[in-house]
Amino acid sequence: MAVDNALSSPLGPPACEKDAKALQFIEEMTRNTDSVQEDVLAKILTQNAEVEYLKRFDLDGATDRETFKSKIPMIRYEDLQPEIQRIANGDRSSILSTHPISEFLTSSGTSAGERKLMPTIKQELDRRQLLYSLLMPVMNLYVPGLDKGKGLYFLFVKSETRTPGGLFARPVLTSYYKSDHFKTRPYDPYNVYTSPNEAILCADSFQSMYTQMLCGLLEREQVLRVGAVFASGLLRAIRFLQLHWRELSDDIESGMLNQEITDPSVKDCMVKILKPDPDLAEFVRMECSKENWEGIVTRIWPNTKYLDVIVTGAMAQYIPTLDYYSGGLPLACTMYASSECYFGLNLNPMSKPSEVCYTIMPNMAYFEFLPHEPAGFTHDSTPKLVDLADVELGKEYELVITTFAGLYRYRVGDILRVTGFHNSAPQFHFVRRKNVLLSIDSDKTDEAELQKAVENASQLLREFNTSVVEYTSYADTKTIPGHYVIYWELLVKDSANSPRDKVLNQCCLAMEECLNSVYRQGRVADHSIGPLEIRVVKNGTFEELMDYAISRGASINQYKVPRCVNFNPIMELLDSRVVSKHFSPALPYWTPERRR
Ligand code: AMP
Repeated sequence: MAVDNALSSPLGPPACEKDAKALQFIEEMTRNTDSVQEDVLAKILTQNAEVEYLKRFDLDGATDRETFKSKIPMIRYEDLQPEIQRIANGDRSSILSTHPISEFLTSSGTSAGERKLMPTIKQELDRRQLLYSLLMPVMNLYVPGLDKGKGLYFLFVKSETRTPGGLFARPVLTSYYKSDHFKTRPYDPYNVYTSPNEAILCADSFQSMYTQMLCGLLEREQVLRVGAVFASGLLRAIRFLQLHWRELSDDIESGMLNQEITDPSVKDCMVKILKPDPDLAEFVRMECSKENWEGIVTRIWPNTKYLDVIVTGAMAQYIPTLDYYSGGLPLACTMYASSECYFGLNLNPMSKPSEVCYTIMPNMAYFEFLPHEPAGFTHDSTPKLVDLADVELGKEYELVITTFAGLYRYRVGDILRVTGFHNSAPQFHFVRRKNVLLSIDSDKTDEAELQKAVENASQLLREFNTSVVEYTSYADTKTIPGHYVIYWELLVKDSANSPRDKVLNQCCLAMEECLNSVYRQGRVADHSIGPLEIRVVKNGTFEELMDYAISRGASINQYKVPRCVNFNPIMELLDSRVVSKHFSPALPYWTPERRR
């Protein structure tokens, strides 16, 4: 389709008129970053002028940044817990937002071991959809012809519960996929998925994955891009194919759906799609039965131009494995978002993962930035928050947001580095999430949680007069699913009565029982995390570790045992001192209900 010249964009020539409008919107927002931000804050404060939380701080109807910054404190989730609890229990008064809280989004960030509950309002769905609508127009600038085929995306809904007051508590993507915004989205030739809605919306994760994979295989020639939200999800799909290609091929050969697929709406929809195709079945069997799975993605889906998965932040650990299975296809990280708020998008989605930067869209919320001090450096006075348009190139900041749904100066916990600007909008490299030590899927285990888990498990060693003298950890992602490895150095006081294999296996489970609910859900419901492993190392290993660190320049006075390791020589040292390995023998406790 020819695009009117007046609609062309500095980002590049748009693929169609709809794209031109989206690109123009990006230009408009990023050219006017500061005034859009000023406007957004004024809108949020006007809309919520009468809410209980804001009234506490005597804003007196002011909507300007200066008054806002001088009166409203910066907070963390824990500070809002009383308000969240009241809303969850059914208090419908305007506590945080004038618009009624429509549901809670369950974040993968946790507080006291449980998922955080993020309030949201109906309006936010439009804002999320707006950000989604910008992704393909940007992608079309770099990859032409995406309207000539389909996307194989593994998308899932997860368990949802109700709070005591009757509001839904569920992940943001579950909320989005179940919304009419997604279910009744208009046809867009650039955004056609192989997965039918029925498969995506099927709550049984096996049936959902099975059907999505089957549909992807049936349309293998049409698939132009393969994706999932995070890298871990796509690797789980590949693992699923490794485990189930035989049944899948049988279905393709016979045109009959596996009996294990019992969901009525999935069955109804597959009747229309699945037809016998013995040649395709033979092809899938031939490829999947090969010992070597290198490049399997492009062997099965030969027209794939890129993988659409987030591989920034904690997901970077999966890049080598994705490269292996895809034969090095480009990895596109398209957006940066959270349960609290969708932040922005990558304007150069085909850039190398290490160079990915996200442009925060100034219309999404009011954004402030807390200058991030290097570890050990503390500030005496209250640090000053910087506005979106004022961040400085090369500096690191923690993201602080004020949303339409009622979070005011809320610390997200992400550390970002400014790498450049698009017009006047800064672009950020995602550096890391604060305090996260171990992560396999969307679990985010911090140092305190790991410490508590080790303490809990070591109780089992007491009767053997044994204690854990040192420990460290490592997220092993070489296998799918990945798992936590915890290295323990033990002090066994009575070697005649040292803990046996069975006890140490139980210690693995005791650790898992203590880890946060996102970890336990990954183990129990999503099967995205494998059994926790304890590797007992020889006495003196941690002293060697210290010697090694000091030989590389660490100060002997300030040396602290790293509670997580990922530097190869250190892991080699640890692994060469392992005396025994133990795995969790069972699944930890998990239900969708919260413990508190
Ligand atoms: P959740 O609260 O479960 O929605 O998780 C949101 C968090 O996931 C963000 O605050 C980030 O820490 C992380 N995240 C989301 N998108 C990205 C991305 N594109 N790159 C790196 N980390 C991300």
